[in-house]
Amino acid sequence: MSNLEYCIQKAREIPYTSNQQRHYAIVVDKRGRLISSAANSYVKTSTVMAKAAKRVGLEHKVFCHAEQLALVRSKGKGYKLYVARVLSDGTVANSEPCPVCALLLSESHIKEVEYT
Ligand SMILES: [Zn+2]
Repeated sequence: MSNLEYCIQKAREIPYTSNQQRHYAIVVDKRGRLISSAANSYVKTSTVMAKAAKRVGLEHKVFCHAEQLALVRSKGKGYKLYVARVLSDGTVANSEPCPVCALLLSESHIKEVEYT
């Protein structure tokens, strides 16, 4: 299974709740070994997200996105980030970083990103 396939599988395991997107993110090292992982959170807020959101002019975006959580949990380690998004029926959907995550990623140690 590729890292992206693993990420998709984990996204499908997130319980479906209407109006909440199912995103899963993993950070791997240069050899592709798992460093950290996270799903979107609609419960947790983050001061990292809140500060970055303010800088891109989106102050309402304070909930933790999968890639931001995976990034924090990777504690400065890791090389590549994968993000998968699946729809309610498990179909793989296109995903892209929001302006907040794009800013955080651009200033992080991550060298490559791959989104579904
Ligand atoms: Zn985001």
